[in-house]
Formats: sequence, C-alpha cells, structure tokens
Amino acid sequence: MKTHARVVVIGGGVVGVSTLYHLALKGWSDIVLLERAELTAGSTWHAAGLLPLFNMSYTVGQLHKYSVDLYKRLPAETGQDVSFHVTGNLRLATCSERMDEYQKYCGTANTIGVPFKVITPKEVRDLWPLIDLGDGVASAKIVGALYHPDDGHIAPADLTMALRKGARARGAEINEQTEVTAVKRTPAGEWHLTTNKGEIIAEHVVCATGNYARQTGRMFGLNVPSIPVEHHYIVYDQSPELKAYRQAGGRELAVLRESDQSYYLREERMGWILGPYEAGAPARFADGVPDWFGKNLFEGDLDRLLPHVEAAQRRVPSLANCGIKDIVNGPIAYTPDGSPLIGPAWGVRNLWLNEGHSFGITAAGGSGWQLAEWLVEGEPGIDMLAVDPRRYGPYTAKRYVVQKNEETYRNVFVIHFPDEERPDARPAKTSPVYDKLARMGAVFGQRYGWERANWFAPPGVAPVDRWSFRRSNYFEHVGREALNLRRHVGVIDLTPFTKHEVGGPGAEAWLDGLVANKVPTKVGRIALCHALTRRGGIRTEFTITKIAEQHYYVVSAGAAERYDSDYLLKQLPQDGSVTLRNITMSRGCFVVAGPRSREVLARLTDAPLDNGSFPWLSGQVTEVGLATDVYLLRVNFVGALGWELHFPIEYAHHLFDALFAAGKDFNIAMAGMRAMESLRLEKSYRMWGSDLTPDYTPYEAGLDRFVRLNKGAFVGKDALERQLANGVPHRFITFEVHGVKDADPLGNEPLFDVDGNMVGRATAGYYGHTLRKSLGLGYIKPQYAAVGTDIGIEILGERKRATVLVDSPYDPDNKDLKA
Ligand SMILES: Cc1cc2nc3c(=O)[nH]c(=O)nc-3n(C[C@H](O)[C@H](O)[C@H](O)COP(=O)(O)OP(=O)(O)OC[C@H]3O[C@@H](n4cnc5c(N)ncnc54)[C@H](O)[C@@H]3O)c2cc1C
Repeated sequence: MKTHARVVVIGGGVVGVSTLYHLALKGWSDIVLLERAELTAGSTWHAAGLLPLFNMSYTVGQLHKYSVDLYKRLPAETGQDVSFHVTGNLRLATCSERMDEYQKYCGTANTIGVPFKVITPKEVRDLWPLIDLGDGVASAKIVGALYHPDDGHIAPADLTMALRKGARARGAEINEQTEVTAVKRTPAGEWHLTTNKGEIIAEHVVCATGNYARQTGRMFGLNVPSIPVEHHYIVYDQSPELKAYRQAGGRELAVLRESDQSYYLREERMGWILGPYEAGAPARFADGVPDWFGKNLFEGDLDRLLPHVEAAQRRVPSLANCGIKDIVNGPIAYTPDGSPLIGPAWGVRNLWLNEGHSFGITAAGGSGWQLAEWLVEGEPGIDMLAVDPRRYGPYTAKRYVVQKNEETYRNVFVIHFPDEERPDARPAKTSPVYDKLARMGAVFGQRYGWERANWFAPPGVAPVDRWSFRRSNYFEHVGREALNLRRHVGVIDLTPFTKHEVGGPGAEAWLDGLVANKVPTKVGRIALCHALTRRGGIRTEFTITKIAEQHYYVVSAGAAERYDSDYLLKQLPQDGSVTLRNITMSRGCFVVAGPRSREVLARLTDAPLDNGSFPWLSGQVTEVGLATDVYLLRVNFVGALGWELHFPIEYAHHLFDALFAAGKDFNIAMAGMRAMESLRLEKSYRMWGSDLTPDYTPYEAGLDRFVRLNKGAFVGKDALERQLANGVPHRFITFEVHGVKDADPLGNEPLFDVDGNMVGRATAGYYGHTLRKSLGLGYIKPQYAAVGTDIGIEILGERKRATVLVDSPYDPDNKDLKA
C-alpha cells in the first residue's frame, strides 16, 4: 500500500469505485481506494440492479442519465461485461393524480434530454402481455403509464469490476481488507489515516462508505444524516407463463413498477424479482454498523410484504403460480429527503462525501462524475444543490434522521406532489411565534428543519392542505393574503433567514472579493450581492447591510445556512483581519409590508420613516416598541412599501403582538410562504435555489445591475468577462401563460418556440393574484427573450401559449416600494 496519495477514497462499493474511476479519468492517478472487506461487500453485492431514470429532481435526473449512458459504454472501454439488460421501464398509473405526476416529471425529463413516452393501457398490454389491466373492481384499472425505453437492470458486482478495471488501467491503486480505523490532521493540513495495514497520508479524502457513513463521519467529527433502512426483494422460481412467452420469442419484459401499490417487478432467470417499498421498514444501525454484520442480510419479514405480493399477483396473475426461492433483506442507505450526499463536507477542508445512496447502482456513475469534477476543477459541472451535503444543518438529530428516513422509504412510490409536506419528525425547529401562528390558522410546511407557515386558514376552514399538481383548496386563501398585503399591510415571519455578522478591519475588502456587486461602504446602506462560482454561476445571494464601521450584517436564504456558512468560513482570511459569526439563531425576522406599513411602524418607533430619512435599500439600528437593537431594513421580497425587522430573538413575542396591535386599524394580517411566492413572481424576484443556481451567471439571470466588473477582483469575474465576450447563452424571462384553467407552471417545464422546438426551461411559476395572471420565470435562448414574444410551455402534458412580459410585471417602476 502506498504511504502517500493525492486522494484516498474510503469504501469499495460501486459508489467509491466509480469515484476512483472518474478521478482517474480526469487525469489524477495518484489515488488510492481502501476497502475494509472486499469490493462490493457493503450493499452493492445484493442490490437488485435496477437503473430507473425516473426522478423528479433536475439534478438527480441528470446524474442518473449520465450513469445509464456510461454503463452502456463501459464494456467496450474496459472489456468487462456488466450484464446491462436494456429492457425499458414501465411505470403504471391507476389514477389521474399519478398521471399528473408523470406529466410533471416529463417536463424535467424533456429539459434534461431523457427519452420517455406516456402510453395508453393498450400500449401497456402490447409491451407487457402478462399484465392484467384491471377491471376497477378486483383490481384498480390502469389509466396509462410512463415508459422509459432506455433503462433496465445491470449486474452491480460486474459494474463495480468494470469501473475497477477502468480505474486501475489509469494508475489507481485499490487495497481490499484494509479498514480505516482512525484519522487525524497533519500539521501541514493533510489527512493521516490509520488502517489495519498501516498508515497513509492524503491531501483529499472521499468517504463512500454506504451503511457506515455515520461511523466514518464520526471519525472526522461530522454528524452525517444518513442511516440505512431495511429493504427487501423476493426472488421467485421460474414462471411457466413467462417461460412460454419467452420461448415463443417474446423479448425480456420491461421492469414494471406499479407505483400506486409501491412495488417493482423484473425478470430474473425466467422467474421474477419483486421489490416492495413497504410501510414499517425499520431504520437500522443508527449508531453504526456492529462488528458482527459483514456480508450479511437480515431475516425476511414476509408479513410486511404480503399486501404488495397480493397486489402484484392481481396485476400479474401468473405470479401466483411461482414459488418463492429466496428473500433478500439488506440495509439500504437513506437520507431524510431520499437524495444522496455528494460534495464537500462542512467545516473541514479537503474532505468529500459520496454517501447516503438509496439508488446507488443508478447514481454511482453520475455521482462519481460530478464529485471528480468538483475535486479536480474546484467546482461541479452542473447544479448540485439538491444533493450537496450542506443542504442539511445541525438539526439532524439521530431520531430526526431515523423518523424521516423511515418515512422517506415508505414514501418512495407515493405521489410526489409539489406542495407535499410530510408530517414525520415535526414540529422540531420552530420560530418563537409558532403557537401564535398556529392559533391564527397557519398550515405549516418544513424547510431546513424549520416550520414555516405556508398559508392561513380563516375561521371555519380546516387548516389542512389538499396536495395537488393543480390549484388546490388553499388557492383563494393565499390570494386573500397576497391581496391584503398589496392593499393594506401584511406580516411574514422569516425568522429562518440565514444571518451572519462580519466584522474587523478587513471585512469590507474580503466581502467585496467574494461578491459581484459593490459591498456598501456607507453605514446604513444595503446591497444585494451575489457570490459566484469560479465558472461565474450563482453560488448564493446575500443581502449585505453596513450596520456600522467594520460591521456587516449578511442575510441569505434560510435553507442555505450551512451551505453559506461553510463557504464563508472556508474563505475567511487566516490573519485575523475578519471575524465571522453565524447569528441565525439569535435574531428573528418579521417582514412588515404593504401601503400601510409605514403607518403601522410609525406607531412603534421614533425612527423617521419618510423617504428622505429612510430610503429604499437603507437600514437603521433602532428601537421598535420595547425591543432594542432592531435592525430595521427597508427591503423586502414582495415588492411593496415595507421593512424587514431583524430583532434579538427574545423580542419575538413582544414585537409580534405590538405589530398586530398597531396594525389593527390598518387591516394587518399574516401572509404565508405561498402568498410570498405569488407576490415575488409578480415582481420577477429571483429565488436562490430555483431561479438562481450555479448553472446560470448573473448575466443570464438578468442581474447585470448587480455586477460591477470595474470594481477589482472577485470570484467568478474572469468567467463573466469571458461570457460577455463570447455571448450570453440564455436570458431570464417572466412570462404569462394563457388559457390556464387550474394548472399553473411550477418550474422545470420546457419552453418552446412557436414551431415547437425546445428553447428554454421554466424555473418557477405560480398564480399572480394581483395581476390575475398565471406567471412563470425561466431561462430561454436570447432571441426569444424580447417582451411580447410568443412562446409555448408544456404544463402537465398540455401545450399552452405564453407571452414574454416585462421584467417585474407588477409595478415595473417600483412606485410601491419607493412610496
Ligand atoms: C435489497 C436491496 C436492493 C437494492 N436494489 C437496488 C437497485 O435495484 N438499484 C439501485 O440503484 N440501488 C439498489 N439498492 C441500493 C444499492 O445497493 C446501494 O445504494 C449501493 O450499493 C450503495 O453503494 P455504496 O458504494 O454507496 O455503498 P456500499 O456498497 O455499502 O459500499 C460501502 C463500502 O465501504 C466499506 N467501508 C465502510 N467503512 C469502511 C472503512 N472504515 N474502511 C474501509 N472501507 C470501509 C464497506 O465495507 C463497503 O464495502 C438496493 C439495496 C438493497 C438493500
């Protein structure tokens, strides 16, 4: 075994070996993989080998697509067969909501170039002759299906061996029976790993340890939110009916998924493999994998699987004639949202995670591809926010992860409504006024562990969501909240905002080098600033206020707390000239916005609120009611006259009550997250994470006015200059969709020109209650971005006409917010 390496990958499952392969492919050959047993000894050896392209996530969809393409090439490249059976993949639907889900997915698939077809029950029967389409009595009737012709199943161990061959051929070293048992930092900042076979020093470490992610994380001081859950599949004996069909020349049947009954079924040696995602599957190894568990399995629990077995027999009656040969029940790594953890670890340098894979055979290719890109180039090549390990924060207690992972597992096949808010492990993290909001009828959702009021049910209306891909039960109530804010005054609780305090003599210069805009130099000024990636993409958005000399207050999205904190911390100068404090938990935030907001606040503060004394984009530190040290900032995300109050958290109750008492004469009312979405779309305000991502530069996002190329160096500047010279490939647009009955755009829909060519993608959408228009935001080729251009959009399978609107279609001159 080498004693030094540029990268050590810990873990020889398919994910670790793929990471090694892709690092080697990128030209790094001084790389070593350490595996405690033999390659594939974790979950990889017993995986069913399915490669579903279907995924609702724009990022994960791209990773899966890359994998499937790679696995087709690998045998020719490495000489190792991988038994890739390109059978296709059929997902059945037995209700209209399921078809809506498939149609919503089709938008994502179109924008990332995954081939698919939505097919009729008759086409299902043609593809899958052994199926019973259902009569609606004994079994549910098939109403349609989604068919992917390009995927199928593979032999996971063969795949791992092919990747191994490819990595070794490029100089990578693999050591089996080599367990990493301890880790420390060398004085030079490298990783010193102790193994049962000796010591090794590495510049970078990648953890790809599957079910061991938590104990590996602990060695590095990390609480990794990945805990495995039990997962079964049943292996059946040969089926006489299947055998007859195949012997008569029938092709291998597509992998079948009956989503509404939560199982998959595929051929295996003239018999079947049936894999249910059942309720009641327990999380395992929350404290780490015990020593006795090697290449083992758990006892099968047929009772738990029985409802799914019976459902499969109703759909494929000949299944009842097959005996069960084997039951495989193994640990499958999960995370609370079901997506893997791919990217840098937080708080430490040169440590990378490729953990938490529940579809690891499918994702291995793509995750290795992007992680290698990240290590070698310093940035991933695509937007990886949806899988970035830093999307989680310190709130992932063991019990939280256990409950969420069990919930995510049993929900693998449920309909993934865009407004879905799953109930387990909630409420956990709440704003101080949570109970008050609940009494006002709040219907909560959860983001980054925080409970946030999505909307408020008025008296007499049940405070529950009816999730849908279309306008739903809360539509009119969200409209009322939005209009009340536009006409009178609304309050939004944005306590979850991420908040940092930056101080010291070097603060201004340091921040200025991180963002594209000029950081405010005058005390009391506010600037919207974007930190970019080296490729010029938008990493994050900060609202930066100069509170005092050498004192900046930096606010960003609530869900970006660890992501932003980690970035800032890793960029911090080591000479002590700048101090950084994450004060997210010590300040609350209420937005008070609307034409009457000045009158409400005037009752509570002595700060002069007129435009001359307190203009748009300025802030003051003042008293409000009994609260001291309130940062009163004249900004908001809804495009109204208004202020954000950032206050010491202990004043939350007082300020809330004081605002409502002062606002009684002015129709003050709460507005929730969904009203905020409607209001911000009317103003074309871009949301970090959906409209603003590393895939697009500020020029593409139409944020030119927040870029100062003449101010000196900042991260991403070179890339922006190159883009200006070469041409900006996309433009950000706001558009109105015509003829919408009940399904507004929501993001990830393809955009077309009038001839039906795909020319862009939507990133967000909703109904603008003030404008009374169905609105969307998105990126499009520049020649289609002019105001008034006719374009098309596909929403839930229906092609609609749309028109490009002026940026900020509501109050384009900003008269409201500057009133
Ligand atoms: C029953 C079942 C069926 C499945 N079917 C599918 C499927 O059809 N399609 C699909 O995409 N996915 C499937 N999966 C999931 C898939 O098996 C996993 O997502 C995938 O194998 C994860 O690969 P990995 O490399 O991340 O982890 P693993 O394969 O578990 O590899 C991790 C490796 O790290 C090693 N390791 C841990 N700690 C150390 C240490 N300290 N030092 C050195 N080595 C260490 C372990 O020994 C292990 O070999 C299935 C899972 C189960 C349980």
